[in-house]
Amino acid sequence: MKLAIVGAGVAGSYLGNRLQEDGHQIEIFESSRKESHWPVCAWGASKNMLETFSKDAGLNFDDYVLHRGKKLRMDLPNEKIEYLNLKGLVTYDKFKWEQDLCQGLSIKYGFHCKPESDFLSNFDYVIDCTGFHRSLLPRSTQDFVIPSYEYLVENVSGIDEFYVMGYKGARGYFWFFPLGDGRGYMGAGDVDRKYYGISEFFEKNPNARILRKIGRPIRLSPPKRMLPFHNNNIIGVGESIGCVFPMLGEGIIPSLICCNIFKDVLNKHSIFDAELYEKRVLKKFGYYDDVYRIVRLKMDGKLSSVKHFKLLMSMYRNMKREEKRFGFDIDFEQMNRLLKAL
Ligand SMILES: Cc1cc2nc3c(=O)[nH]c(=O)nc-3n(C[C@H](O)[C@H](O)[C@H](O)COP(=O)(O)OP(=O)(O)OC[C@H]3O[C@@H](n4cnc5c(N)ncnc54)[C@H](O)[C@@H]3O)c2cc1C
Repeated sequence: MKLAIVGAGVAGSYLGNRLQEDGHQIEIFESSRKESHWPVCAWGASKNMLETFSKDAGLNFDDYVLHRGKKLRMDLPNEKIEYLNLKGLVTYDKFKWEQDLCQGLSIKYGFHCKPESDFLSNFDYVIDCTGFHRSLLPRSTQDFVIPSYEYLVENVSGIDEFYVMGYKGARGYFWFFPLGDGRGYMGAGDVDRKYYGISEFFEKNPNARILRKIGRPIRLSPPKRMLPFHNNNIIGVGESIGCVFPMLGEGIIPSLICCNIFKDVLNKHSIFDAELYEKRVLKKFGYYDDVYRIVRLKMDGKLSSVKHFKLLMSMYRNMKREEKRFGFDIDFEQMNRLLKAL
């Protein structure tokens, strides 16, 4: 098939690579210019899954790993501290990974696509991989995003491990994700836009040098709330249809899982079965809606461990089942302590 992929982020690059390999004719359109294109993200994800995605695309994930996490320190309100045992959480060179996936693909940079862009009618299908922007699909009335921004910093001393500070009411968090050699991503997502932790970080690290400052909201509303997934011959993949884990704002792996669902459905018949795609995405990410409800209840101060026991159990059981994909220990007692402390 002749396919246009709009957006050369994690979903667009991986999908382009895999679909070209399957024999489809691929053209990618990316709004940013080649010189300034940069993956906005803190580059943290579980290596357990990325190794498989990389292998499928002919890459060796070890070539991209920047930092292998051992323990994540989490500072919580009222001076409580928790440590997460990390089992595969790494930071990796997402820029290089995406560039390598795009080797041999036709990419047009500096193309800001709109639903009415004429040239899109030359394709059998147009895939909306525009992430948070969801540029080609109709808006969803249930969309919910959290404002965030981050810095790429170097010359950082005194911190060389994953660190998170959770805000009261789970209204956001501050993070530092190490990239090795005194570099790291430091930033915050915060519903209230106060971004506690950022100025304190610079006070504690007066020698830290800013290499980039990047801001973009993160979508927390899960696929169930991001319908429709398609409109005529336009189909959404990745964050554009809510493939982000709502508790963490973590979207790399969910977006890649979504790419694989898309690829399977596309290759099944000569015509794309949009209903089957919708069904499979909703099934795979079904429990994300329970997690999203927990987050929103917590934000509104309405989460009760008794009244919402079923929701909490759904989150725990599903996360435990997918423990490898998260890259850290999933422990019921700890999860309860964390939610109580927030
Ligand atoms: C500050 C921040 C930190 C994050 N940290 C992490 C993390 O550590 N781990 C994790 O798992 N997730 C993280 N996320 C979430 C994760 O980055 C995204 O969910 C994931 O990148 C989504 O992939 P995507 O391919 O769907 O969209 P994106 O990676 O956002 O790619 C979308 C692409 O589409 C392009 N585009 C947009 N509109 C148009 C248009 N109209 N025409 C053409 N091109 C267009 C954009 O320029 C972009 O290149 C973070 C997000 C933010 C904002």
